[in-house]
Amino acid sequence: DTIGDTFDRTVAAFGDREALVDRPSGRRWTYAALADEVNTVAAGLIALGVRKEDRVGIWAPNCAEWVFTQLATAKIGAILVNINPAYRTQELEYVLNQAGIKVLVAAAAFKTSDYQAMVAEVRPKTTRLEHAIFLGSSEWHSIFTSGADSLRADADIVRKAQAKLSADDAINIQYTSGTTGFPKGATLSHHNILNNGFFVGELLSYTEEDRVCIPVPFYHCFGMVMGNLACVSHGSTMVIPAPSFEPQATLQAVSEERCTSLYGVPTMFIAELNEPDFDGYDFSNLRTGVMAGSPCPVEIMKQVIERMGMAEVSICYGMTETSPVSTQTRKNDSIEHRVSTVGQVGPHLEIKIVDPATGQTVPRGTPGEFCTRGYSVMLGYWDQPDKTAEAIDAARWMHTGDIAVMDDEGYVSITGRIKDMVIRGGENVYPREIEEFLYTHPDVLDAQVIGVPDEKYGEELMAWVQLREDAEPLTAEALREFCTGKLAHYKIPRYVHIVDEFPMTITGKIRKVEMREIAKQLIS
Ligand code: ATP
Ligand code: MG
Repeated sequence: DTIGDTFDRTVAAFGDREALVDRPSGRRWTYAALADEVNTVAAGLIALGVRKEDRVGIWAPNCAEWVFTQLATAKIGAILVNINPAYRTQELEYVLNQAGIKVLVAAAAFKTSDYQAMVAEVRPKTTRLEHAIFLGSSEWHSIFTSGADSLRADADIVRKAQAKLSADDAINIQYTSGTTGFPKGATLSHHNILNNGFFVGELLSYTEEDRVCIPVPFYHCFGMVMGNLACVSHGSTMVIPAPSFEPQATLQAVSEERCTSLYGVPTMFIAELNEPDFDGYDFSNLRTGVMAGSPCPVEIMKQVIERMGMAEVSICYGMTETSPVSTQTRKNDSIEHRVSTVGQVGPHLEIKIVDPATGQTVPRGTPGEFCTRGYSVMLGYWDQPDKTAEAIDAARWMHTGDIAVMDDEGYVSITGRIKDMVIRGGENVYPREIEEFLYTHPDVLDAQVIGVPDEKYGEELMAWVQLREDAEPLTAEALREFCTGKLAHYKIPRYVHIVDEFPMTITGKIRKVEMREIAKQLIS
């Protein structure tokens, strides 16, 4: 199926149910009302000259218009290009030209940034850009919000465009988070992302009764696929708590909108659990949700289950290039599996763990590179055939660059990224294992371990530690003493660096590349 056909079916089945809640602006849409908005935007894009496979960029924080544009482009077969709202002129120019964007839909301003000024600056350097339309502008209103009469005529044009599409067409270019380097544009089809959103929703038992709080960015697959497409394919409600993540606004949305499901990367859940008014919120409707995107600490999972009542919460593992989810924990798994693994392979997918050097599948219990194959694997990196060939082999296996272990029952644990693994004196050290141990220290709020260059051992370990608010200052010695006798000597960090925050991507991931750069200065 195409995304447009699935959306239409949901509208027919659940037209009078709530589809979308935009809390910052206080607006709400039923599925029938959302369909009107989507058809209007789709017809407006056609009127601007957008045809199948043309690229339409969206550069905005989370808002209702993001969802309209996402579904409108899918209906007419235009390729939506998600642009990180944190991008500035340099990156914007790169994306506009790299993806050959014809129409840009952009926020006018967000926080302290003037998006119109940035577009004006970049515009003369673009090769394909024909229109830039700012949300809320008079141009937006005249093209994308029309009266009921014109809408009926327009709906026919949209239907005709929709009838020409196939599920394997490219529909979306999503840039990776840029955690390990320069972001790459993954080209994805309806089949890729619609199936993935649908199956995530299936394993979370979504129905039209579910109300899903989505504080993760729409520009990333976590928001637009696991959030929006999971909801659209099940008739569930999408709730936008704020334009970008704010712990208070998220908890208020959960409480006041009676949300049944909540998403987040681990750092978001940590911030929510540490909100001073945490106990004042109503979690009584919350039953499930997803933690994903980076390693999910066992202790945080336990607190999410116990203190937020998310008894059925899933951990998902995946990457932009695989639409994104490859493995997911299920509510009937044992509690041990649900807090300490990323679950088993998703429906209709294959996975294997290989020795990165030889490409041979390793025995169960042995770490190796996680590879996956099936409907979820992207069509390729946009206009980068060399990078695609490095990532996807001749048999269509996607090589993820993540190190994983599979147990006898098929449960997978992610032990780190190949690029983050530390080799100290010939011993492979997985930072994740040390981080998990440091979390058990009562004064430690968050901890991240990296390798730094060392003359004697090749690499040495450095722990960056964020302390709890009421904690006593912690010395490097005291922390090392805490590890002694509990961890092998070569896993005990030589350096400890106390910080207020970590360098992050806008998706909330910790940028270890940047930490390693800073660390080199610290020890020199
Ligand atoms: P880039 O590829 O640009 O360096 P990125 O890999 O962070 O950035 P994404 O596609 O957003 O970009 O993230 C996918 C990665 O996130 C995975 O390859 C994996 O390393 C990590 N990840 C996702 N989910 C989990 C999880 N549940 N546990 C551990 N790691 C996870
Ligand atoms: Mg990646």
